[in-house]
Amino acid sequence: MSWHLIVNSRRIYFEFVSNYREEKLRQVETPEGRGLQKDSIVYGPVKSRRFGATIGISLIPLKVCSFDCVFCELGIHTTQLTIERKHYVEIEDVLEVLRGFPLDGVDYLALSGAGEPTLAANMGQLIDALHESYPIPVLVLSNGATIYMPDVRFELAKADAVKLTFSTLDETAFRLLNQPAAGITAQKVADGIEEFASAYRGRLYFEVVVVKGINDSEEMVRDVVEFLARFNPYAIDINRPIRPGVATHIELPDKEIYSALQSDFPAVRIF
Ligand code: SF4
Repeated sequence: MSWHLIVNSRRIYFEFVSNYREEKLRQVETPEGRGLQKDSIVYGPVKSRRFGATIGISLIPLKVCSFDCVFCELGIHTTQLTIERKHYVEIEDVLEVLRGFPLDGVDYLALSGAGEPTLAANMGQLIDALHESYPIPVLVLSNGATIYMPDVRFELAKADAVKLTFSTLDETAFRLLNQPAAGITAQKVADGIEEFASAYRGRLYFEVVVVKGINDSEEMVRDVVEFLARFNPYAIDINRPIRPGVATHIELPDKEIYSALQSDFPAVRIF
């Protein structure tokens, strides 16, 4: 094969991957919602196949997080890698901004945003305040890193729905994928999930993010899905990162690798 042919084939391949990602992005969520997520306390509505129409609430500045994931869709590295819970945004300010949002047809008020929501020390207070003011269920989208903390579990239990991301039981893959704050291990997160999920009465979602070359093998994904399925979640979503994130070189694993998991575990959905 000539040098030109090789270069052209690679260009065509990368254009194909890039177009595929853009198309999937259009199908899954509105990019407008994603952009607003970076710098607003309240943003949306954001539409997704998993949660319907959500109004996002961010109690955390961009990008304070307990992880610095290679696939992070916010597109920048974590500025403050921490597991310390702090007050960043006043509850009254959230409620004030929220009053300006049309809430007809909204399925969830979702605590997510530009960092990890459980790092907000007033997360539980906000959930109480939202329940007092609105009939809309509250959803928390968390990376699960702080789930070993009793106060986080207590506050998360107030939410009507919780999505915890946990992508591998393998410590090496966990470090490569999530680049966690000091002291966070896959085992610690797994223990916290066990404690929380065994007692939680709301709707529980799990997410497993698979990245080619790190945790995408069927065997590795099966291990974590088997663990998560023990808690009878509403869904276990195997999520292949489709947006260009911090690491733009990430390749999508083939969907077909996980077909058997879908048959073996009814809660599994593949995105
Ligand atoms: S946990 Fe979420 S916000 Fe934090 S680095 Fe990972 S993907 Fe980004």
